[in-house]
Amino acid sequence: MKQQKPSGQRKILLYDTTLRDGTQCEGVSLSVDDKLRIVGVLDKLGVHYIEGGWPGSNPKDEEFFQRAHSLKLKHAKLSAFGSTRRKDCAANQDDSLAALVRVKTPVACIFGKSWDLHVTHALRASLDDNLQMIADSVAFLKSKGKEVIYDAEHFFDGFKANYQYALATLKSAWGAGARNLTLCDTNGGSLPHHISETVKVVKAFLPEASLGIHTHNDAECAVANSLESVRQGCDLVQGTINGLGERCGNANLLSVIPALKYKMDLDCVSDDQMNFLTEASRYVCEYTNIVPNDHQPYVGHSAFAHKGGVHVSAVARHASTYEHLDPALVGNKRRILISELAGRSNVLFKAKEFHLDFEKDPKAVEKVVKHVKEMENQGYQFEGAEGSFCLLVDRLVHSSKPYFDLKSFRVVVEKDRQISGLVSEATLKVAVGDKVEHTVAEGNGPVDALDKALRRALEKFYPSLKKMTLMDFKVRVIDAAAGTAAKVRVLLESRDHKDEWGTIGVSENIIEASWQALVDAVEYKLLKDSKK
Ligand SMILES: [Zn+2]
Repeated sequence: MKQQKPSGQRKILLYDTTLRDGTQCEGVSLSVDDKLRIVGVLDKLGVHYIEGGWPGSNPKDEEFFQRAHSLKLKHAKLSAFGSTRRKDCAANQDDSLAALVRVKTPVACIFGKSWDLHVTHALRASLDDNLQMIADSVAFLKSKGKEVIYDAEHFFDGFKANYQYALATLKSAWGAGARNLTLCDTNGGSLPHHISETVKVVKAFLPEASLGIHTHNDAECAVANSLESVRQGCDLVQGTINGLGERCGNANLLSVIPALKYKMDLDCVSDDQMNFLTEASRYVCEYTNIVPNDHQPYVGHSAFAHKGGVHVSAVARHASTYEHLDPALVGNKRRILISELAGRSNVLFKAKEFHLDFEKDPKAVEKVVKHVKEMENQGYQFEGAEGSFCLLVDRLVHSSKPYFDLKSFRVVVEKDRQISGLVSEATLKVAVGDKVEHTVAEGNGPVDALDKALRRALEKFYPSLKKMTLMDFKVRVIDAAAGTAAKVRVLLESRDHKDEWGTIGVSENIIEASWQALVDAVEYKLLKDSKK
């Protein structure tokens, strides 16, 4: 599906550096395979440039570019990163520039010095030498057929120290044929008004030049600084997925992109690509092995979660009362949480979602709200445990009977030196009507053994249970201050061929908590089937 572009809409190019600057993030180490997978995600997301790494700096990046060469990208161009030539060597003799030519990417991005102090003290070159190094390097790469993006390192700090010199370095790169001059807030300390004033001066100084922005988040302004730069005339934004990067990270493209498109009405990615935003975030979390931040703007699990009773009733009437954007636009979902703040409206909203129709009965509503609050005091949390919530409503409102009755169970865990690992065995006695079943089963762990024994007992009465599987099992200690007497909360995720549901159990004993969640998982499946 092609997006209809209003004519005359300004186009903003997105330059992703997750695979280069993003990998500077503490705790992130990507294999070549991970990097290639992330390239696929970025291409699907619709970024225009993917910076793959710094060839010549390490063998992993060399291998990446070798393998990336055969990728068929639908959208993005691959870019390789490097620096301007060394001070006392011609551009065609420089190893780092040679590596950029060798990797055969259509784009090369090189950084050079903009801050006079860095030129004289870090490079130990004269100010004029540095201008020549920039011009030579850009011209050399251009002569090899590359599209060259010039990164002006420390531009904003350099501009403060000596603006005339900082501007001269840009002129040097532009004159030598750079496609874009990207202004870098390398130390990440700039604020939006500072960025704004500086970009304005650069734009007036080189009105013909295409400008870009590369920001870091040390003052928590990376996204704001990027957006402000665009407002002042930059038409390329560099950043990373989920804001990965060294120290406090780079500008988070996942926040930049929807702001450009929906709040500034600029052309950057299509509607379909935008719908992939949330998934893109999760994939990159997966590949970088970073736990997703639930509260990440736009894409976080909680980004459109409503908990306060007043909010919920307002959102139920009109979503925009407490939402800055329709979550579906960025591939995210609105969530209504049942919580201790829960008023009637949360419970009703949730009930509606699950087609539990009891809102016309005010007594029933009060009963459910009261019960939910009591259970939350004991440590239950119905966020993510919709199965348990529906059962609770069903029991309270319809006084429904349980599908089976536990008589007793026993779980044995045995460790034997002769056998590697542990063996768990569950023995179980349950009644269905006036029939009593007595079963035994072994499992990978005590919960698995209980699950198997329970199904063995129930499947002849309820054959649809064969279609149900346990997907995930999460345990959290909830009253840590109480030491060993702390309670645990067990959250089970189950599914059948059609749905997924979560159930919960709370107890000081992990087996008991697991059992509660397991019983709810089975009962919810049976309740759900009976409604059809
Ligand atoms: Zn950077």
